[in-house]
Amino acid sequence: MIPLVAPRMEDDDIQIFRLYHGPQEKLTQYVQQFEEKFLTYIGKKYALAVNSGTSALHLALLGLEIVPGDEVIIPSYTCTALLNAILYVQAIPILVDCEFDVSNSLYTLSVEKVKHCITSKSKAIIFPHMFGKATVIEPYLQFGLPVIEDGTLSLGAVDVYGSRVGSKGTLSIFSVHESKMISAISGGILLTDDEKIFFRMKDYLENSDHEKVYSVRYNYTLPSINAALGINQLGKIDSFIHRRRYLANYYSQRLSSYECIELPKVTEDNVFFRFMIRLKNGIRPEDVLKYGESKGIQFGRGVYPPLHRYLNQDQDLFLNSEAAVQSVISIPTHPSIANNEAEYIMDVLEELLQNRKSGELV
Ligand SMILES: *Cc1c(COP(=O)(O)O)cnc(C)c1O
Repeated sequence: MIPLVAPRMEDDDIQIFRLYHGPQEKLTQYVQQFEEKFLTYIGKKYALAVNSGTSALHLALLGLEIVPGDEVIIPSYTCTALLNAILYVQAIPILVDCEFDVSNSLYTLSVEKVKHCITSKSKAIIFPHMFGKATVIEPYLQFGLPVIEDGTLSLGAVDVYGSRVGSKGTLSIFSVHESKMISAISGGILLTDDEKIFFRMKDYLENSDHEKVYSVRYNYTLPSINAALGINQLGKIDSFIHRRRYLANYYSQRLSSYECIELPKVTEDNVFFRFMIRLKNGIRPEDVLKYGESKGIQFGRGVYPPLHRYLNQDQDLFLNSEAAVQSVISIPTHPSIANNEAEYIMDVLEELLQNRKSGELV
């Protein structure tokens, strides 16, 4: 089976695990080095490594002093980690519809719709850069609310004005779980320029058994071995991105003549965490997924299901999210896909699209 997502682990990554047998003092430096490397790469003042992307989102909300009853704005078309973090602090998730433009790879929070849902209770926006594209973040900063950039799926991407994903928000977070752009097996990082927010978040991590007054802390520290792996992987991000773009270009060429699908433009501001195509003429995502599975290929969906379905909210308020859910599939683009696998994936997809053209059922 060719999986939709997979970490790229090479010999030098595997070697990291030998550190367990090495001198302990060496191992303990890695967390700080991981933070420093991320700071340099993204361009922020303070960094805090944690054990997952979800922990990072949770700490970000605590750092912003979000309290029960506060409203936090997120898109419906995103993963449940955002919703979980909001519920950890007993805040109220305000779901907003996304943009939907396949050729420009736009699946992000709609600025217009955000404007209409801001109230006196709104305390933050969590903005996930979707599927590899670097969205220009400035329009979301104009509301005067803190913006948490979730750059997990677009790590390394640079927007059309030259800003790197994660460099502009009040806070930014990245997950380095093995299913993301780089893999520390598990892990996450928080970045900010705000000293107060940073120390507030850091304090939640400190293990302090000897204080006079108890206050709740979180065991979210990133283990050193994950940090060591994260450092090594961040060093390879450019080559990973290069490979993803190569695959995206190849897929675009192979699929360019089919009118029953819409393709994304391969632009410089997209690192192609996902290669998302829209199916037209009544081809259903579930049929493509099933056909792929029968041929040993895991095609995926963008987001499934979107959060408004989980929360039983009115689908009419999320027409773009619904349209995306009902028409988009993603093709594996992870850097471990070999050329012959990429060819095979295209052969299978073309077979399906051609059968469709001639009116046969697949
Ligand atoms: C996976 C993911 C997370 C959660 O990260 P974990 O490390 O799995 O907790 C958060 N945000 C986005 C956009 C993700 O894709």
